[in-house]
Amino acid sequence: MSWNTFATVAETKKALDAKQVSATELATHYLDRAHALQPALNAYITLDREKTLAEAKIADNKLAKGDAAPLLGVPIAHKDIYLIDGWKTTCGSKMLENFIAPYTSTVVKNMADAGMVTLGKLNMDEFAMGSSNETSHFGSVKNPWDLTRVPGGSSGGSAASVAAGLAPASTGTDTGGSIRQPAMFCNLTGLKPTYGVCSRYGIIAFASSLDQAGPFARTAEDCALLLTAMAGFDPNDSTSLDRPKENYSRDLAKPLGGLRIGLPKEFFGEGVAPGIAKAVDEALAVYRKLGATTVEVSLPNVKYSVPAYYVVAPAEASSNLSRFDGVRYGHRAAEYTDLMDMYKRSRAEGFGAEVKRRILIGTYVLSHGYYDAYYLQAQKLRRLIAHDFKKAYEVCDVVMGPTAPEGAFQFGSKSDDPVKMYLNDIFTICANLTGQPAMSHPCGIDKDTGQFVGMHVIGNYLDEARMLNVAHQYQLATDWHTRHPVL
Ligand code: GLN
Repeated sequence: MSWNTFATVAETKKALDAKQVSATELATHYLDRAHALQPALNAYITLDREKTLAEAKIADNKLAKGDAAPLLGVPIAHKDIYLIDGWKTTCGSKMLENFIAPYTSTVVKNMADAGMVTLGKLNMDEFAMGSSNETSHFGSVKNPWDLTRVPGGSSGGSAASVAAGLAPASTGTDTGGSIRQPAMFCNLTGLKPTYGVCSRYGIIAFASSLDQAGPFARTAEDCALLLTAMAGFDPNDSTSLDRPKENYSRDLAKPLGGLRIGLPKEFFGEGVAPGIAKAVDEALAVYRKLGATTVEVSLPNVKYSVPAYYVVAPAEASSNLSRFDGVRYGHRAAEYTDLMDMYKRSRAEGFGAEVKRRILIGTYVLSHGYYDAYYLQAQKLRRLIAHDFKKAYEVCDVVMGPTAPEGAFQFGSKSDDPVKMYLNDIFTICANLTGQPAMSHPCGIDKDTGQFVGMHVIGNYLDEARMLNVAHQYQLATDWHTRHPVL
């Protein structure tokens, strides 16, 4: 069998339905490639050929019977933050190095119900904290376009695996930009849905009021297919939105005539690499050609996004991560004197430096006497930022700008300066603070650095179908998204 390893999900499904390829052949192809490129890329934490081929066999049997599950037989790899029954689930941490999940997260279950075959578990920053995949206990993931550069984070393995053709698609999670920024760095399309659209049940919690699951793929068309499978109400997640299931592909073909694109002046100011600003401008010219109009908007409070995020996210993380105590889950120190000493040593040994930094910050801002000064203030800022967007949507349908202020950077170039690293998320974080849907699609190259540029599309609540339509129409008119690395 010869298989185009860079085929889209839509193409893969067509080939399966036409019996040009079987689910087993596909699974074998991607597993072989994942193994072959693991030493160079380190994209996976766990591959389990037996489990994957067993799923593929079931899919083939169903395909033979004409089962109509929408993505039956299409392989997918999952970020190692998703619990899958019987699979090791590490969250990129020594703390969970040997943890075998006792049940399956709703998103993975939904994708399995749609017929998708699990290829393996993908490398990530420890507990999803990071923008470069350099904090993983299992070593950093390399950007398949340039092995000296980071793939982005925290879903670095999710981005690298799809970019390198080790999987047709993957799942990620996005708390402050962890789907969109790596999508930009690896020239992929990635989407963070409206908060509550995808269930968080069975996803290891980082910052519960910000975390959302979402897909990585080559195209907006694929993201629509994947999101349709992933999303849906789940009584096991108290913040899951109770609403009917949606078909996110329904509006893909709509022309863009009349679309109003809001351009916040705050997203085009200093700090954006000139090569990125230029690529985004050129992409906006394409959008105008497709019939869209652009209008300047202002988001005056968006400048507080990073400081607000670095209060809220560590605060919630410090609470969520208190469950890792060496008793109920995870690593337990081999030697200790008493119970308190056992907690302390287990946590000191099990967590890496960035996770410890967040726990310390979070515990501090939540402590008595500081709560009002930090956490409460940050929550108020979230409301103000949401209000800015609400006003913007009076004159526009979507908001656009660059996904990140600079492209894929060299390993080590930011890892000793946390604030520098945090500023990489300056454009993406606002959508997590407000809960709005946001995506990144390939839109060119920064000619000064040779790195990919992503267009960040932010939409109003539950406007995913429109955003996917917007990105799809752009992709019909351009070919940035069709490029892939030679490996
Ligand atoms: N880079 C951000 C952080 O370190 C966002 C991470 C994420 O979205 N999971 O917190």
